[in-house]
Amino acid sequence: MKSHAKVVVIGGGVVGCSVLYHLARHGWTDIVLLERSELTSGSTWHAAGGMHTINGDPNVAKLQKYTIELYREIEELSGQATGVHVTGGVLLAATEARMDWLRGVVAKGRYLGLDLEEISAREAPELMPLLDPSQFVGAVRNSEDGHLDPSGVTHAYAKAARKLGAEVERFTKVEDIVRREDGMWRVITDKGEVVAEHVVNAGGLWAREVGRMVGLELPVLAMEHMYLITEDMPEVAEWNTKTGSEIIHAVDFDGELYLRQERGGMLMGTYEKAAKPWSEFQTPWNFGHELLEPDIDRIAPSLEVGFRHFPAFQKTGIKQIINGPFTFAPDGNPLVGPVRGLPGFWVACGVMAGFSQGGGVGLALANWMIEGDPGFDIWAMDVARYGDWASMAYTNAKVRENYSRRFSIRFPNEELPAGRPLRTTPVYDLLAARGAQFGVTYGLEVPLWYAPDGVKDEFSWRRSSDFEHVGQEVRTVREAVGLTEISSFAKYRVTGEGAEFWLDRMLACKLPRPGRMTLAPMLKQDGKLIGDFTLANLGGEWLILGSGIAEQYHMRWFERHLPAEGLVRIEALGLGRVGLAMAGPKARAVLAKVTRADVSNEAFPFMAVARMDIGMAPCIVGRISYTGDLGYEIWMAPEYQRHVFQILREAGDEFGIGLFGSRALNALRLEKNYGSWAREYRPIYDPVEAGLDRFVAYSKPADFIGKAAAVEMRENGGRLRLRSFLVGALDADVIGDEPIWFRGEVRGWVTSGGYAHNAGKSVALGYVPKEIADEADGFEIEILGKRHAARLQAAPLFDANLERMRG
Ligand SMILES: Cc1cc2nc3c(=O)[nH]c(=O)nc-3n(C[C@H](O)[C@H](O)[C@H](O)COP(=O)(O)OP(=O)(O)OC[C@H]3O[C@@H](n4cnc5c(N)ncnc54)[C@H](O)[C@@H]3O)c2cc1C
Repeated sequence: MKSHAKVVVIGGGVVGCSVLYHLARHGWTDIVLLERSELTSGSTWHAAGGMHTINGDPNVAKLQKYTIELYREIEELSGQATGVHVTGGVLLAATEARMDWLRGVVAKGRYLGLDLEEISAREAPELMPLLDPSQFVGAVRNSEDGHLDPSGVTHAYAKAARKLGAEVERFTKVEDIVRREDGMWRVITDKGEVVAEHVVNAGGLWAREVGRMVGLELPVLAMEHMYLITEDMPEVAEWNTKTGSEIIHAVDFDGELYLRQERGGMLMGTYEKAAKPWSEFQTPWNFGHELLEPDIDRIAPSLEVGFRHFPAFQKTGIKQIINGPFTFAPDGNPLVGPVRGLPGFWVACGVMAGFSQGGGVGLALANWMIEGDPGFDIWAMDVARYGDWASMAYTNAKVRENYSRRFSIRFPNEELPAGRPLRTTPVYDLLAARGAQFGVTYGLEVPLWYAPDGVKDEFSWRRSSDFEHVGQEVRTVREAVGLTEISSFAKYRVTGEGAEFWLDRMLACKLPRPGRMTLAPMLKQDGKLIGDFTLANLGGEWLILGSGIAEQYHMRWFERHLPAEGLVRIEALGLGRVGLAMAGPKARAVLAKVTRADVSNEAFPFMAVARMDIGMAPCIVGRISYTGDLGYEIWMAPEYQRHVFQILREAGDEFGIGLFGSRALNALRLEKNYGSWAREYRPIYDPVEAGLDRFVAYSKPADFIGKAAAVEMRENGGRLRLRSFLVGALDADVIGDEPIWFRGEVRGWVTSGGYAHNAGKSVALGYVPKEIADEADGFEIEILGKRHAARLQAAPLFDANLERMRG
């Protein structure tokens, strides 16, 4: 075994081998994979080998498509058969709600280039002869599904990597990982030590244990998973003879089942409701090529449905039941990327569908390690989407929920209950007492809307029980004054004698003077966005406000760029600083009643920021509002939040103050065409595309990150433009990820939208190619399988001349 390497990859499952292959393919060959046993000795060897392209996140779906297309390449390069059979598949809906969901999947597939087609339940047996069409309301045909040989694929990756110069050491167990003072990693094994610049944790079932070697508690948990294999079935033989092809894959969402042909019989797997974790605290090191004891009672309810939906199963014997463990993150997506605070330590774990996702995970990680950027939008898989709050017990609750809901519908207005409430702010119970219906962002309970007694969300793809109440909250803001909680924003304090110099290089905007705020895009080297913030200059101290879900993501970026000499300190304030926001034409009158500071428009204009007492509480107040109205954001230490909340409510009484939640906030920002991070603003768009170029100080003297690329793109930007559309929708608005049609062709996608109650319009924001971005007509947006006329809306629907906001 070599003593030094550029990269050590820990784990020879499908994911580790894919990472190794992609690193080698991109030209890094001083790399070694360490596997404690034979390759495939974790969850890989007993996988059912199914592969599919669909995923709730379109960016993950793209990587799944890449993975499936890669198999031919590694087979050719390695000479190792992968056993890939692209049979195609059918996705089945037994309810209308599921069919609505499937229509959304087909629609997304249009701009992802997936070959999906809606078919009727009656047509479905022509594709999959074992199903009883009377049990279903409709289906979708997917030409890219199939299955493969898990061991063949893993060995093909490893052999192809070896051919390119990588090394694989089997029967070499990593026992400890120690960081040296020079930043290199000592990877200590039972066969000696390798010193490496980079370490990749692809430990699969043992990813947690490998993480613990460097003090990390990764939010992953293994779950038991069962599938059965039947005896040979005459129906299968008959179909094979008649058509000359295999029976295709089927996913029966309402039965929570997947099926495919396995030799002369069938394989049926289920994500049962009575989900069972495996090795909750510690994965035993002596586990390897064993299976777990099957528990047919646990999967019996799903099998009952399966045998009804596919009657041929009633007449056949079960040959074998496989029960094996594999790992999940709380949301079921992989954990990929560099770990904040551990330079050179990378993870590629929590991959629950290694044969659909492994290739994409390997590619993204290799790009990231070699180029400094994953090369696509992998936010949905980024390990930084979790913070310390994703504890072991939280992960346990969420993974169980996710597993048992793997094939369940999640409606756009549905909030899942497991692991909640976990993080709450001091006003939580005050808001709850007023009917707040909460959602979760970054583990924190946030008010979505306020329900009168006896009313709650009715889950639906269409406008629902909250519609009129959210409308009322919106009108309260636009006509009087509204109060909401904004503690979920990320807040960073930047101090130190180098702070100004550093911020000028990190952020693309012109830095504000003391007492002023500004919008602050942050760019990567390639000139694309990596953040959009509000920056406040508090004189000697800077406050950056940003998206709460990206706190870890942005801290990883900030810390990576901190000067070594300690001239700059940056701190994520988390819930050590909480907030309330007040907006509407009467907002100033309310504020004036509760502070001695002069908050007149002259003394405290738009974008001003100051420390002031609200009641008796020391606060920071910024004259800014995401509602696009006259408004204020008020920040305070948590111990003051109840006091400030009460005093604002009391003072606001005479002005008709009312509470509003994030759904009303969404409706308000839509009529201002304001985007948000992780929706409109993502690392695949440049500032011109995203319409943020007006906040980029192209000519400021500081050589900010991404400046050269941004200056080059300034005239023309990239391919796309963010646009706002008014949609002729009647009872269902966009959610996000719908296709945008232009003159009969899919040309773009929706990033977010909804109903703008004040304007009384259905609004969608989305990206379209720049050549058509200024066409007023010809657009259509597809919602639930129906195309609706969409008209470009260039000017904001509300306060286009900024009189309210600045007045
Ligand atoms: C019953 C079942 C059916 C499944 N069906 C499918 C399916 O149809 N399609 C699909 O895509 N996925 C399926 N999966 C999931 C799939 O198996 C996983 O997504 C995949 O195997 C994850 O691969 P991995 O490389 O991340 O982890 P693993 O396969 O667990 O590999 C990790 C490797 O790391 C090694 N290792 C760990 N720690 C160390 C150490 N300290 N030193 C050295 N080596 C170490 C282990 O020995 C192991 O070989 C199924 C899983 C199960 C259990």
